Amino acid sequence: MNDRIQSVEVFPLRIPRDVPYLGALEPGVTVNEKGCFVRPGNRTVYSTSDHCVLVRLTTAGGLSGWGECVSVVAPQAATVIIRELLGPLVVGRDPMDSTAIFEDLYDAMRVRGYFGGFYVDSIAALDIAIWDLKGKLTQMPLCKLLGGRRHERIPAYVSGLPAPTLEQRVEMARLWTSRGFPAVKFAAAVADQGECREMARLREALGPEVKILVDLHWRYSAAEAIRLIRKLEEFDLYLAEAPVHAEDIEGQAEVARGIRTPVGLGEELRTAFEYLPRFLKRCMDVVQPEMGRTGITSFAEICQAAKMFHCRVMPHASIGIGIFQAASLHASAALPHLVFHEYQHSIFDRNLRFLTGTMSCADGYFTLPEGPGLGVEPKPEVLQYSMSS
Ligand code: MG
Repeated sequence: MNDRIQSVEVFPLRIPRDVPYLGALEPGVTVNEKGCFVRPGNRTVYSTSDHCVLVRLTTAGGLSGWGECVSVVAPQAATVIIRELLGPLVVGRDPMDSTAIFEDLYDAMRVRGYFGGFYVDSIAALDIAIWDLKGKLTQMPLCKLLGGRRHERIPAYVSGLPAPTLEQRVEMARLWTSRGFPAVKFAAAVADQGECREMARLREALGPEVKILVDLHWRYSAAEAIRLIRKLEEFDLYLAEAPVHAEDIEGQAEVARGIRTPVGLGEELRTAFEYLPRFLKRCMDVVQPEMGRTGITSFAEICQAAKMFHCRVMPHASIGIGIFQAASLHASAALPHLVFHEYQHSIFDRNLRFLTGTMSCADGYFTLPEGPGLGVEPKPEVLQYSMSS
């Protein structure tokens, strides 16, 4: 077990897709020379391709650990941070010191004001690879290293409904619920007839038992969000996600007090430090950490803090080939306060072809990959999608 990290390799990926994440482009939306466009519904930049950043750490003893971070656009940013700054700082370190390494990397730029954004995304990729090495060195699956496997399977909710018309989205929701998925989330950013109409049609089509969640994509003021969510509550809303601007902590708390539905927050936050003021003001009932932005060390800290503040956990699922998704499932399996894990079928299913291992999602549940560490590795052919840099 006395092995040390010897080399760091970084692979920014661009995987083409026929239809962009969240569905076809809205009328009038154009794609720029970098392959990016802005969705008018949430004023957020997306790429027409799937991007992520992979990391491979190799030890002196010849073991490989894999990590990945979210990089929906401009994956070169995290790539340069890892290659030029963070990678050299982990060479020579013992992977069994995962928490110390995470803290050291976080501390290394704190004084310069970098304690979020692309910087922590980059730490996340390395942290996941370090935990993968830890599992391989100890021959233990990650969930065991995180304290024990509480869940044999991870309950999944279907997210996104990427289809251009309301009736097609309703049909997609009906298809997934008929396959045994008990919960569905729709996206305000693409609800072209408005959230109320979308909710009403989904409830009408899916019946009273299916849990319906809405992602409000930080669109509203607190007063607007409360008014809207109260209308959605007439159709038995299960969770209201990201109702107001991410910076509006007072507004988040006001919404949580003003509605009956649980509020979910946190996909954009990376550390327990960022969550803390929201815990203290009781801004949410459910935290939604994104493993591809937090890494395993910070994800576990956020979930521990959530337990102290009696919040439950529904991890977020972003665009990746499945490395950080595997980490997220393992971390979820160790949680007593897990409710669901998000399931992005249009990403997860198509990218499984790039992985070794037994991870899957069917009949309403994720199956955890078996084996030491993450239990998955990228197949060599995925590296054909590496971007030149
Ligand atoms: Mg969301």
